[in-house]
Amino acid sequence: MKVVKFGGSSLASATQLEKVLNIVKADTDRKFVVVSAPGKRNAEDTKVTDALIKYYKHYVAEKDVTKDQDWIIQRYQDIADELQLDGRVMENIKATVLELATLPIKDNPFLYDTFLASGEDNNAKLIAQYFNENGLNAIYMHPKDAGITVTNEPSNAQIIPSSYDTIEKLSELDEVIVIPGFFGVTQDNHICTFSRGGSDITGSIVAAGVKADLYENFTDVDGIFSAHPGIVHNPNSIKELTYREMRELAYAGFTVLHDEALIPAYRGRIPLVIKNTNNPSHPGTRIVLTHSNTQQPVVGISADDGFSSINISKYLMNREIGFGRRVLQILEELNIGFEHMPTGIDDMSVVVRDRELTPIKEEEILRQLTHKMEVDKAEIERDLSILMVVGEHMKDQIGVTAKAAKALSDNDINIEMISQGSSEVSILFVIKTAQKNEAIRALYTTFFE
Ligand code: ASP
Repeated sequence: MKVVKFGGSSLASATQLEKVLNIVKADTDRKFVVVSAPGKRNAEDTKVTDALIKYYKHYVAEKDVTKDQDWIIQRYQDIADELQLDGRVMENIKATVLELATLPIKDNPFLYDTFLASGEDNNAKLIAQYFNENGLNAIYMHPKDAGITVTNEPSNAQIIPSSYDTIEKLSELDEVIVIPGFFGVTQDNHICTFSRGGSDITGSIVAAGVKADLYENFTDVDGIFSAHPGIVHNPNSIKELTYREMRELAYAGFTVLHDEALIPAYRGRIPLVIKNTNNPSHPGTRIVLTHSNTQQPVVGISADDGFSSINISKYLMNREIGFGRRVLQILEELNIGFEHMPTGIDDMSVVVRDRELTPIKEEEILRQLTHKMEVDKAEIERDLSILMVVGEHMKDQIGVTAKAAKALSDNDINIEMISQGSSEVSILFVIKTAQKNEAIRALYTTFFE
């Protein structure tokens, strides 16, 4: 039994949906189909989810929403017309889109999520109908009926573990089951979405719940590349990655798969494969527990922007018991998550994502460091990127960091910080964002060419 998930670009038009139908039909094990909302048909197009965000904003601002509603309805109508679907499905979709603008605005923390979730929900209805009219015995299933129960965290839901037992019962059904991705239902019956890109998470949850043999995640690329194809020309496509490697790469900018999507599949020991809807015979990238090939130390190079570092110096810091705890406490009280914390004898840097900071929070951090902790120097350094060299088998080989550092120095790239966890799955360098692309190319050349 397989769970297949299709991303927005695979569902953007009738032509794409025909490919999807053929993929599902080609293998009778493909019993569960998880779908995103229609994505972009071309670079200038708008994703339905983004159009729903606009619709929501206009609605809560009490502006005219007719244009938003018309655009969204027409988007589905175009697909339905091209596929010559029975008119009833569009009547239902139209009514749902219009109904959003009747929901209460006040005291409704799930309103935004309800708007967004309708993108996948309506698409699942349309796709189930299309499958049925084209020789597949399929049913649409709302996440509530599938048993996808989630926590009460708007736009950031987490699955409630007891859901898996309910989801397991779906495997007794004979039909192909089409489930909208991206959202679940809270115990109080509210629609609550995962974070953006969260249909991948639904696919993984369903795969773990029904104990699938494989979770196939269909996107628009031939799997995962060793480096970003927009930065490195024609990079290698990776045949096999471990969950840990994928998690590290996804953390630092590889957006092919949502990083939270790995957890349910990993816990359920479900192998995962990233495949291309436009080239389904390509084997794609398999994500597995352990590598079949233990030779290759580095599997990928990723990088991400948008980091700042809180740099702190204090003479005899190493002698001051509790210093680190007190620094982190300042951040905790301001509700700031940190990412990395490289240290020296008398200095410490706390690397955070820019989105965690605001001018008021920054001022407060610096004030407390100077006055409460009496540091000699505290400053916030900006425009930083993290650069990660990833591979589980680096730990069996000597000289990987040396090679990476040489490649960076040969290209005049200053390493601001280095950090490596004891598992040695990745080496992390902090560099200036302006040098990021050059750094990726230098490392790619060293490890892959
Ligand atoms: N449609 C949602 C988004 O754009 C979820 C997804 O596509 O996975 O974020």
